[in-house]
Amino acid sequence: MTEVHNPATGRPIADVPETDLAGTDAVIARAAAAFGSWRAVAPGDRARLLRRFAAVVDEHRDELAELEVRNSGHTIGNARWEAGNVRDVLDYYAGAPERLTGRQIPVPGGVDITFHEPLGVVGVIVPWNFPMPIAAWGFAPALAAGNTVLVKPAEPTPLTALRLAELGRVAGLPDGVFTVLPGRGEVVGERLVTHPAVRKICFTGSTRTGTRIMAGCASQVKRVTLELGGKSANIVFADADLPRAAASAPYAVFDNAGQDCCARSRILVQRAAYDEFLALLEPAVRSLRVADPADESSEMGPLISATQRDRVASYVAGARVAYTGGCPDGPGFWYAPTVLLADSPADRHWREEIFGPVVSVLPFDDEAEAVALANDTEYGLSGSIWTRDVGRALRLARAVEAGNLSVNSHSSVRYWTPFGGMKRSGLGRELGPDALHAFTDVKNVFISTEG
Ligand code: NAD
Repeated sequence: MTEVHNPATGRPIADVPETDLAGTDAVIARAAAAFGSWRAVAPGDRARLLRRFAAVVDEHRDELAELEVRNSGHTIGNARWEAGNVRDVLDYYAGAPERLTGRQIPVPGGVDITFHEPLGVVGVIVPWNFPMPIAAWGFAPALAAGNTVLVKPAEPTPLTALRLAELGRVAGLPDGVFTVLPGRGEVVGERLVTHPAVRKICFTGSTRTGTRIMAGCASQVKRVTLELGGKSANIVFADADLPRAAASAPYAVFDNAGQDCCARSRILVQRAAYDEFLALLEPAVRSLRVADPADESSEMGPLISATQRDRVASYVAGARVAYTGGCPDGPGFWYAPTVLLADSPADRHWREEIFGPVVSVLPFDDEAEAVALANDTEYGLSGSIWTRDVGRALRLARAVEAGNLSVNSHSSVRYWTPFGGMKRSGLGRELGPDALHAFTDVKNVFISTEG
């Protein structure tokens, strides 16, 4: 059993059974057995089932959101968005089964056609920071493409994934098609990687674990998608709308208490605007409402655990603190939003993913230095560019090595568009029109027309 806690109080809220090795193998066998009939479901019927699944999730949106508030400490506003995102991603990929077309390619001597064949059993391994959306970004396109799916939630946050599996059954998904296996990474997660009947791993989590998973998949040439860590840059030029850039910067890094792979945790400010930007940022940080995540007006909740809080604090100890926001005292894993001034790009808090409400600020002189600093990291997930110069915005957008960039905005994730990392932030893309193909293999068939 894993005891799971409410991060806002530190109190236990549930005991969740841990799937063992034999249990994992049994579930993989059921998913493999269900594959043949699931891939044979007519495209229109598979689409209808996914639409019904989306509708059932929508009917339970508030319940799922409240569960996430209790299990993960997400603010109620965020948690409602997350449950709504599961619905939207299911709806979006419900359009796919009827549109998963191959090509007819001109060749001599016959007809050549391609098919996008489902892979079989797909394992989706999920981190604790966004338990619902990240599971859905894997399971929705995988199911739409005709695969059966096993989801392994993270140890501290299994409750919403387990509820989603029940809702899938309510919607009419056949047995074995969509199963959630709570349990330990080294047991259930590893078995998904090593079991030959699992044909693809869709992993989101730390770069350390992702590297190990990639090596495990390599021994079977198992397909793998990796969404890993980040240390994204928020680049602010002196010609930008500074009040807007400063007012939005806290949300770009402190949302979900900074436990966001896309967190813009490095702010690069052009030297001419450095003092003004820091002055504008201060009230925005101080006024961020860090409170009980169940409270409708809460903008930031607690960290996931005491261990995570200690880790975050270790980056602040000895660093130059510009200012901090506030946070509740007492029980729960609270940490105040903190702005650090970096002395150089060698600072540990500038280089490493902190995964907490801590942001580092560093000045730069010109465009070339901004690009060099932004790219001086092993990661490449997301980032923002603030400038009124369109040409510069486009030059920067091409030069910064990150998979998801926004100009004069901090948005990273839209389910219509591809999402994923460059360098050690990942491999492959989720969401958008192409993610579906990551859950299929192209098969080429030549039919001779010679008599
Ligand atoms: P983690 O790597 O510790 O765990 C992620 C998942 O992998 C968990 O379900 C865990 O049980 C499982 N796991 C652990 N060891 C395993 C093993 N040996 N084999 C198979 N599975 C194993 O990551 P975390 O601490 O839960 O999540 C935080 C990290 O996730 C951060 O680095 C963050 O940047 C990253 N993240 C990335 C994205 C993205 O889209 N790029 C999104 C969210 C989080």
